[in-house]
Amino acid sequence: MAEVLEIKKEEKALILEAYEDMVASIKAEIDENDRKVMRESFELATWAHRYQRRKSGEPYILHPIAVAKICAEEIGLGATAIISALLHDVVEDTEVTLEQLKEKFGEKIARIVDGLTKLDSAYNVRSPQAENFKKVLSTLVEDVRVVLIKMADRLHNMRTLGAMPRHKQLKIAAETNFIYAPLAHRLGLYNLKTEYLDLCMKITDPENYHRIARKLQETRRERTAYIKEFIAPLREKLDEADIPCEIIGRPKSIYSIFKKIQNKKVSFEEIYDLFAVRIIVDVPPNKEKMVCWQAYSIVTDVHSPIPERLKDWITIPKSNGYESLHTTVVGPEGKFVEVQIRSMRMDEIAERGFAAHWKYKGVSDQQDVYERWLDSVREILENPNVDAVEFLGNFKSDNLFSEEVYVYTPMGDMKILPKGATALDFAFSIHTDLGYHCTALKVNKKLVPMGYKLKNGDQIHIITNKNQKPTEDWLNMVITGKAKNKIRSVMKERKRKEGELGKEALERKFSHLKIDFDTNIDVLVKFFDFSSRVDLYYEIAVGKLSVIDIMKNFKVEHNKLVVIEEEPKTPVKEETPEPEKRSRSKKVIGNPRLLINGEPADKYDYNLATCCNPVQGDQVFAYLTANAGLKIHRVSCPNATNIMANYGYRVMKAEWGATTEATFVADLVITGIDDGPGVIERLSHQISTQLGFNIRSLSISGEEGYFEANISILVMNTDQLKIAIRSLEGLRNVSTVRRIE
Ligand code: MN
Repeated sequence: MAEVLEIKKEEKALILEAYEDMVASIKAEIDENDRKVMRESFELATWAHRYQRRKSGEPYILHPIAVAKICAEEIGLGATAIISALLHDVVEDTEVTLEQLKEKFGEKIARIVDGLTKLDSAYNVRSPQAENFKKVLSTLVEDVRVVLIKMADRLHNMRTLGAMPRHKQLKIAAETNFIYAPLAHRLGLYNLKTEYLDLCMKITDPENYHRIARKLQETRRERTAYIKEFIAPLREKLDEADIPCEIIGRPKSIYSIFKKIQNKKVSFEEIYDLFAVRIIVDVPPNKEKMVCWQAYSIVTDVHSPIPERLKDWITIPKSNGYESLHTTVVGPEGKFVEVQIRSMRMDEIAERGFAAHWKYKGVSDQQDVYERWLDSVREILENPNVDAVEFLGNFKSDNLFSEEVYVYTPMGDMKILPKGATALDFAFSIHTDLGYHCTALKVNKKLVPMGYKLKNGDQIHIITNKNQKPTEDWLNMVITGKAKNKIRSVMKERKRKEGELGKEALERKFSHLKIDFDTNIDVLVKFFDFSSRVDLYYEIAVGKLSVIDIMKNFKVEHNKLVVIEEEPKTPVKEETPEPEKRSRSKKVIGNPRLLINGEPADKYDYNLATCCNPVQGDQVFAYLTANAGLKIHRVSCPNATNIMANYGYRVMKAEWGATTEATFVADLVITGIDDGPGVIERLSHQISTQLGFNIRSLSISGEEGYFEANISILVMNTDQLKIAIRSLEGLRNVSTVRRIE
């Protein structure tokens, strides 16, 4: 090894051990030459990073080695990717140049490292995450390996976040949630996605995370025994039928269990399927489908199935390539258990997604799902009219998460669209011109509205007229990114044309004031918070804004337009970066001891956000809105991820100081069995008489012996809230008590 000045002797041994451990974990086939080059890259990286240490104090080189190991072991990548991973931070952090890498390791590796360096530098600027996401995707369509290595890098950083300050942790978690978890899902890297989400939850919601982790630990022995009992008769029958297979039972992730608790409003104890059983059959590709169904038949002979839970992704795989047969059966003690049946090939694809896909190219006769997906990514990226946030919205809604609907052209060709897609989406998916000129649509020979939601098996016939043109309301009748983009770009063009009048009016005014148009116009755009000049011109052209009213907000100083610093005379355009669900009255009574950036919050103009109603003791942050001062959100607020990822530069630190007399409103939903009149009395008695809390409002609804009550109570802090929840949970016939997030 080259001379290592800054690394201690005992650390050298540790580093070498980590490297050898990484090499031993390689799953792909590598030859002697690969080994040699890999070793060289390791030595170069060790030397280059010799002066650096990680936040935790360990030598920096351990990070690239760990990233290489994730690539090798968990994603199953080959030599080129592993070498690139070892070198991934060299160009950015050390004096080694890209040229040197190219000389030593060749064009290909230099290009991947360059891609990774560029991705990183894109992150350091203050650009919103949506913009970053777009960059990640542009890289993705060029060389998937760059993004796969980046994902490994992110995973290792997430695993070692402990040494970072809290606000950095939150930011990294938000970004992971926003960009990397959806991408991992899309690329079929389920293990990575699961771990990302678990690690994010550990940071944003440590209390619930550790609570569930503890409960899983407590119930482990019991669960293992149950899985054994469940599997034993299956093993026997599968052996009898001569089906070579492996059967495993594994717990579900903490994040997915928590989601279930929230969505189904049940307690941990009421979640029956804390684990899934997987049967992996070992048969050649031409037999796998048949044998999987044979195994299904055996499973459902032993344990009775719940028919509507059968999911067949073997006949038609998911659009991210996932193939598997899922069913839910009733196991011993009447517990529901999910069983997944798949071949070894399918399992590898399910675990390693895109990376495994290359290996099996051509084995299955399904369409190349990734190629199709990458094409659609390219198509969205190529549209110059879409701004990043819009783009991301489209992308997340149709390309990343949703399930699909399968429909047919009149010729019987199958088309796959995201679930919820409409007949008009279908027209745009076939061809842009068909979309633009679509006048009517027939589904299964009957006329349907353009916004008709497609169902599996629909056959769609498009009727066009060359005089037809899209209108603004078409946007409400489509959900796919492609259709939205195409309609928007037509609308933008139209807006631009119609806005000419507005532009001319402003030009006249400016020349009258003797100020330069081009250098001053953006002052207006910014003041009214328009996203482009075109929008401003258009609003003037259609009479929503008048030039006279606009100019009341400005004065001319030294041939420049300057905002008059008093209350604007024209109402400022409402801005909505923050999608709050409900708007209600200010939710705090008295003065809470809130600190913003370490200073008493009274110094600032602030409100508690109504989307998550923070209470003293909650983990919170402050968000600077454009015109409503600061808003305090809970870290677990449903809007938090979006805010932190897109407007991170407007986020400020906030925390609660010592307790005072402040009182907060907390909203609770209580469900339970309605055993006749008196439910309201019992609940209100418990809260006001027994606990001494004030009730702000109480409403109750219910049917067939079941009730759901919404109660707003006044509490001083989270401790009081916990007491209230616990005591309500203890009431007879109350099943769940949940705070509205
Ligand atoms: Mn790194």
